[in-house]
Amino acid sequence: MKYLANFSFLGLACAGSHAASILTGTSVTTPLGSFNLSRGAACACQRLSHTSGGVIRPNSANYTAQAADAYWDVRADLSPACIFLPATANDVAHALEVFGSCDAQFAVRGGGHMNYPGSNNIVGGVLVGLSKLNNVKVNSDTVEVGPGLTWYDVYSALDSHGRVAIGGRMKTIGVPGLTLIGGFHYFNNKYGYAMDNVVSYDVALGNGTQITVDKDSHGDLFWALKGGANNFGIVTKFTLKTYDMPMVSTTIQVYNESGIPDFITAVCNAAKLDEEDPIAAGMIATVEYNATTEVVSASVLGVQEGAVSPPSQFSNFTAIPATTRINKIQSMKSWVAVLDSPKQMFRVMFSHKSMKPDPEVLYSIYNAWKDAVDEIADVEGLYPTFVTNVHAPSSARVALNNGIGNVWGLEAEPLILWQFSTGWALAQDDLRVEAWSRQLTERLHKINVEKGLASDFVYMGDAGGWQNPFAGFPAENVARMREIRSSYDPKGIFSRLNWGGFKLGI
Ligand SMILES: Cc1cc2nc3c(=O)[nH]c(=O)nc-3n(C[C@H](O)[C@H](O)[C@H](O)COP(=O)(O)OP(=O)(O)OC[C@H]3O[C@@H](n4cnc5c(N)ncnc54)[C@H](O)[C@@H]3O)c2cc1C
Repeated sequence: MKYLANFSFLGLACAGSHAASILTGTSVTTPLGSFNLSRGAACACQRLSHTSGGVIRPNSANYTAQAADAYWDVRADLSPACIFLPATANDVAHALEVFGSCDAQFAVRGGGHMNYPGSNNIVGGVLVGLSKLNNVKVNSDTVEVGPGLTWYDVYSALDSHGRVAIGGRMKTIGVPGLTLIGGFHYFNNKYGYAMDNVVSYDVALGNGTQITVDKDSHGDLFWALKGGANNFGIVTKFTLKTYDMPMVSTTIQVYNESGIPDFITAVCNAAKLDEEDPIAAGMIATVEYNATTEVVSASVLGVQEGAVSPPSQFSNFTAIPATTRINKIQSMKSWVAVLDSPKQMFRVMFSHKSMKPDPEVLYSIYNAWKDAVDEIADVEGLYPTFVTNVHAPSSARVALNNGIGNVWGLEAEPLILWQFSTGWALAQDDLRVEAWSRQLTERLHKINVEKGLASDFVYMGDAGGWQNPFAGFPAENVARMREIRSSYDPKGIFSRLNWGGFKLGI
């Protein structure tokens, strides 16, 4: 009720500076929290309310569905002043022009999986949800994809054509966020990362203009979008390479605690595998620890191109005694269909660092993590996992040899990305779990630095909000990205007004 009384004045906000100054600071209560209405938000919500789709306001039935239910991490639920759901690229461009002229703060959500508060949602500003930009068009060797789609949508569209794209490894991850930060897929070792497989981007710039960006047109921005995240514009369409692959060979293997040393060695060997002409194969490799029952289990979810079963590239894992082992030949769509990460799953935080593959040291990190989990065992709903991702030399060679590159600038050297993914239930534990995860990560990374095993590379998809991935990219790449940002976004719409994600900084 309080909200309705206050918000009915919104119409006045753009009418003149007097009305706007009356509204500035007015307190608004929403189902998800309160904020003081800023002049910029009042102006932008008012102007966007005149578009054909209008805006969703805090008193609308859809408000919570958009501002909370669309997110994986409960911590990401915030209270925007209004929500705009563009139906076309023109709507996106118009919104950006409005944000610039109103000086309004805004946030953008694709699949809603980036998991720290403010990375994709906002308090008291405008939330732009991209879900209606869900077109998909399959061509002979590419697919055109709207940023409102998940990777399951993409694999489903390609299924009857017998083709796959290089995207997310799980079902509900959004296309835009993953593609703009890099993109770990099962087949990086042969085809590079998701970003290396984008042949063109349609982009709405901060001033409301729209451009198509590819290797021949705006080549500087084409490079910067390959890992440079949300610093340059809103992508309204991705055109992605696809590969002929009607079937893939999959393996699910689960091990108990006695298998962990061999499991970790197999992960390190996968990173070190350096083949001229690799068979495309990769995995999700995770250890779960239940601090109450003290039961540990590790799992590998592996996928390989082709129809050889069991998949040959996982022989190091298959040699480990397993409690479960399921091998199948199936399509990418049917594999991904069961790998869901439901929205509003829990409060969750990531922390990660990278290192050279050294099984003994990686095993000591696992042990340190497990001991540290015991210290927070009383946290309600605790769900700790230790995750590893591999970067094989051949994954880097794709960008090193394609004449385009990407902003990571990684060498053809093997890396292990080790990550703590920690879920919990209650807001009262936020600061405790966040401090625990960060301190543990920094302490273990420091040991790796001293041993000469640490890498500065930080992947945005595995990082916590406290981390600065740009600090681990080559300094010349960061300087070049900043120049490109100045030329495409001279008014700083994406640095001053756009909340969240990993920002380049000054
Ligand atoms: C359960 C889980 C599994 C994961 N699996 C993988 C994996 O297999 N491989 C991998 O590489 N990563 C993975 N990740 C990390 C994932 O790639 C990132 O969280 C990514 O940001 C998700 O994309 P999204 O569209 O869902 O995110 P969102 O949270 O919607 O967006 C992420 C960021 O991109 C910005 N953004 C969104 N759309 C656009 C756009 N069109 N233009 C400009 N900016 C935009 C947002 O503002 C936000 O800052 C996983 C994460 C989770 C939680």
